[in-house]
Amino acid sequence: MTANTATTDVAIVGAGMAGLVAGVYATELGADVIVLEKGSRPGGSMYLSAGLVWSYETLAEARENVPGGDPTLQRVIVDGLDPAYDWLESLGVTVREPPVELPTGDTVTAPTPGANCGKIEPEEFTRLAREQIEEGGNEIFVDTPMTELRTDDGAVSGVVAWNETGRLEIDADAVILATGGFQGNERLLQEYVTLAIDDLWLRANPWSTGDGLLVARDVGARTTGGMHTFYGHNLAAPPAEVTPDEFLELTQYYGPFTVALDEHGERFTDESESDLEHTLAQDTAREADGRAYYVFDADLYDDEVFSMGHIGTIVERSAEAGANVIRAESLTEFEEELYEASVDGTTAVETLKRFNEAVRDGRADRLDPPRTDHQRTVDTPPFYAVPVQPGITFTMGGIAVDENARVIHERRSPSTVFGYDNHDEPLEQVVIPGLYAAGVDVGNVNNRHYMGGLANALVLGRVAAENAVAEATD
Ligand SMILES: Cc1cc2nc3c(=O)[nH]c(=O)nc-3n(C[C@H](O)[C@H](O)[C@H](O)COP(=O)(O)OP(=O)(O)OC[C@H]3O[C@@H](n4cnc5c(N)ncnc54)[C@H](O)[C@@H]3O)c2cc1C
Repeated sequence: MTANTATTDVAIVGAGMAGLVAGVYATELGADVIVLEKGSRPGGSMYLSAGLVWSYETLAEARENVPGGDPTLQRVIVDGLDPAYDWLESLGVTVREPPVELPTGDTVTAPTPGANCGKIEPEEFTRLAREQIEEGGNEIFVDTPMTELRTDDGAVSGVVAWNETGRLEIDADAVILATGGFQGNERLLQEYVTLAIDDLWLRANPWSTGDGLLVARDVGARTTGGMHTFYGHNLAAPPAEVTPDEFLELTQYYGPFTVALDEHGERFTDESESDLEHTLAQDTAREADGRAYYVFDADLYDDEVFSMGHIGTIVERSAEAGANVIRAESLTEFEEELYEASVDGTTAVETLKRFNEAVRDGRADRLDPPRTDHQRTVDTPPFYAVPVQPGITFTMGGIAVDENARVIHERRSPSTVFGYDNHDEPLEQVVIPGLYAAGVDVGNVNNRHYMGGLANALVLGRVAAENAVAEATD
């Protein structure tokens, strides 16, 4: 980039999983590429992740587990994953099949039954991707946030970005938005997700503040369903302190096996709705106003779930980080300790007794709220209550794209606009020339339920690059 202007075939905004994949693939396809990264390093949230690149083996399983998501995009991801693993390996990236060891030292078999999973090392992938972009004569510019799209006669024609020298104007035949969602933007979270934003951990990179969504909206992009949903986990609650290198260690993966109570001592959701804890985290953010207590007994403490680690070890780590973990030898003592933590202990113990009775009688799925899975009594002392607070990893809603990752602009056709009774007419869908999105910026692959984050970024990053390069070199 010379001075404060540049011209390129493809401008890629964001150098996380989707942006790096798009950058490498567009470079391989022979395009001139500029990758802009707002943060001080490439890698985005991928760099902090466990590196499990997974989705479902089949579209049928994806539909069954994530029924609210867009079937067209889900098909693209499910079908594109195996070729994408091969492509990663062709770059020299190590892709290991589970069982694999996580950075926490725990061994994981598969994120969930029916998963197609390959594990990458985030650091290795980031290094190799950067090298390959640079060897192809292209570059990643860090500390260079994009702030605007440039347009020309209805088409996107480049971006405006800023770095230490000031404003940069980049002409590009195609732009790929890969800014990683809006979980870092409190105003957008309040607009779409929850008002309880003070009681949320940001379990992600700090730079994904919805810039892609905002600029896409500015040029008329449609937003998707599922804008209020997010992927995340419950983490140890304050006064525990959680730093990015502890995101994995302080994640309470075992939530779906516990009885989750709010401050009134009541259950507020079916804890077991998702094995991966993401529905419980979303309901903690909204139904329980951002704070819950995972209640369980000695049997669960000594257990392991989905090989995501020994539960007692996660509890001990949480206590060491500062969480006020309650441990009591009897229910009477438990009740008192809960009161000290400002939880209605009497109601909590009554809730537990009702829960246990329902499990013993085989009618836990008829409780209100029901308990559909992992029905086990909580009756072996000592009893535990771990205070948890939701961590938001990424927002599930976002920019609408078609199967070629082209951003969709939705408008009424001229005939319906000028008609006098057009409200029942279907909306016409058109793409915005020159604009693509990939990764978390694309909405509605996941919708309340989750089918992986890295896989979306990997597959849609490649799809976006292929189509953007074709448009740019047409
Ligand atoms: C602790 C943790 C564990 C996880 N584990 C897994 C896992 O095992 N499996 C899985 O599938 N997913 C996992 N994830 C989620 C996964 O990391 C994300 O789904 C994935 O990184 C999304 O890729 P992306 O490219 O869309 O976003 P990111 O990788 O976050 O990249 C977005 C990039 O855009 C940049 N950016 C933002 N705004 C701008 C701007 N205006 N200009 C320029 N650049 C900008 C950001 O700085 C960032 O680098 C995990 C995440 C975390 C935090």
